[in-house]
Amino acid sequence: MFSIFKKRKQESDQPAEATETCGMGNLVESNTIADVLPGVRHLAVNLSIRGQDNEIEPSLNNRSFGPQSRAYFHFRCKNVDCVDGGFDLQEEIINAVNEGRNEITGRRVCQGWRDASNVGQQKCFFELNFKIYVSYNAI
Ligand SMILES: [Zn+2]
Repeated sequence: MFSIFKKRKQESDQPAEATETCGMGNLVESNTIADVLPGVRHLAVNLSIRGQDNEIEPSLNNRSFGPQSRAYFHFRCKNVDCVDGGFDLQEEIINAVNEGRNEITGRRVCQGWRDASNVGQQKCFFELNFKIYVSYNAI
C-alpha cells in the first residue's frame, strides 16, 4: 500500500517579486539592517571567544546594531596568528530574524589555520559562543 503525501501548491503561491532582484545582491556589506532585516529595531550580539587550550580568559565582545548599522555579521577570530579564520553568523542571524526569533544562541569553531607555519596542517579551533538578542519594531 502506498501513501501519497499531499503536494503543496507552490506555483500559485509564489510572489512574483521573489525572482526579481535589483542587482545589488552582492553588495551585502553596504546594506543596512533596515534593508536586509526590515522590522528589526535592535540587535545585541554578545560574543565570547576563547582558545582551544583554555589558557587565556575568554575574550568578550558586545556589539550593538541599529536599523542604520551595516547588516554584516562576520567576526574576527581572536587568535592573532590565525590565517583565514573568523566566524560568520550572517546566515544564522538572517534566518533567525526571518523566523521572528528574539534570542539566538550557538557555538562555532574557527576553521582557519592556527598560524602561518601551520597552514594546511593544524586548524585554529578557537571557539566562539554567541548569544544574540533581537528586538523588533512594534507594528
Ligand atoms: Zn581562528
